[in-house]
Amino acid sequence: MKKRSIENIDVKGKRVFVRVDFNVPLTDAREITDDTRIKTALPTLRLLMENGAKIVCASHLGRPEGKKKNDLTLKPVAQRLAKLLGREVQFPGEIIGKEIDAAKARLKEGEILLLQNLRFHPGETTNDPDFARELAKDIDIYVNDAFAASHRAHASIQAITQFVPLSVAGFLLNKEVEALSMALENPPKNYTVILGGAKVSDKLPLIQNLMQKARKILIGGAMAYSFLKAKGANVGRSEVEENVIPLCKEIIEKAAKKEIKLLLPVDHIASYAIEPEVTIRMIKRGEEIPDEMMGLDIGFETIQLYTQELKDAQLIVWNGPLGVFELETFSAGTIEIARAVASGSAITIVGGGDTTAAINKAGVADHFTHLSTGGGAALEFLAGLKLPGIEALPEE
Ligand code: ADP
Ligand code: MG
Repeated sequence: MKKRSIENIDVKGKRVFVRVDFNVPLTDAREITDDTRIKTALPTLRLLMENGAKIVCASHLGRPEGKKKNDLTLKPVAQRLAKLLGREVQFPGEIIGKEIDAAKARLKEGEILLLQNLRFHPGETTNDPDFARELAKDIDIYVNDAFAASHRAHASIQAITQFVPLSVAGFLLNKEVEALSMALENPPKNYTVILGGAKVSDKLPLIQNLMQKARKILIGGAMAYSFLKAKGANVGRSEVEENVIPLCKEIIEKAAKKEIKLLLPVDHIASYAIEPEVTIRMIKRGEEIPDEMMGLDIGFETIQLYTQELKDAQLIVWNGPLGVFELETFSAGTIEIARAVASGSAITIVGGGDTTAAINKAGVADHFTHLSTGGGAALEFLAGLKLPGIEALPEE
């Protein structure tokens, strides 16, 4: 399902609209704390610059909810992009209108213009055709390189494709689609999934789809406690979503029927509070988590067990940290499993912002095959859902 790529298209002298995801984390003083998302868009932008396109670049930032919010201006992003590209990035501070029309008309080959935060306009999130038509004005080619936003039917992602002569995928988008499609469409036999993180309800469609192909599912994180409770265990004050417990039961039964090995933690690191300096207790196999405590990381026996189970994997898909990795006290499970995954020979695919952060923290990111830049988008893709932004592009 590879999409037609920008790579083999003549862009010289063409006005090209590139939708990127520059939704970077900012401090209160509007300083960018992590510019990974800008860097991942550079290959597409450089190709366009070198081949003489006139580039109109656009992104959203945060959730301004259709209103102009000064703290969510893309200006710091324009400055960082200019620095990374080593050339000027025009930033008129508007999205559509006369000033932008004029700036588009003035663009010379190889020049780049960044529009203001798309979500300052209410038409972006409502997929408004009139707004999309304005974005598409005088544009010859539309490029979607914003995988992380492609699960949204927004004007710059979906509606715009109806108003441009040609729509194609950027490098990043195609790289994501290729890597994730492999896991979705023809995974090898020894396919192991690691699931953790916070919200089970968000991830249930993913689990159900993974059960069609995976052979082993290793569960940790807060998610584990809804499953453990479904099996009748006492989990104290661990984070449990009561309303998903019946579904957890179903998943456990279905796994047994399909001979999928679904593993839950056998021991835990527990505590009274999610704080850096707290008293912790190891809850060993067979022991119960006391009523006033919560499970905040997988225990040492679980680490060993999961490490062992990962050894024969040919493909590992991982979403969700196995404990509260942000605090050192509860990070060992996630860090050790990250090392175990990294040291094997399996193809390794990671989805999820926090999981990627944890793998970076473990210092093993280079050993992974693919760290997806899309949190929600990657999960929806792996759950087998169709993403509006990808559906809107023609196939190769
Ligand atoms: P991702 O962003 O990778 O999809 P999630 O957002 O689903 O991951 O989950 C990450 C969050 O889950 C982290 O903030 C982590 O602290 C939290 N978490 C992991 N294990 C537990 C636990 N046992 N109890 C409470 N929170 C947890
Ligand atoms: Mg998250």
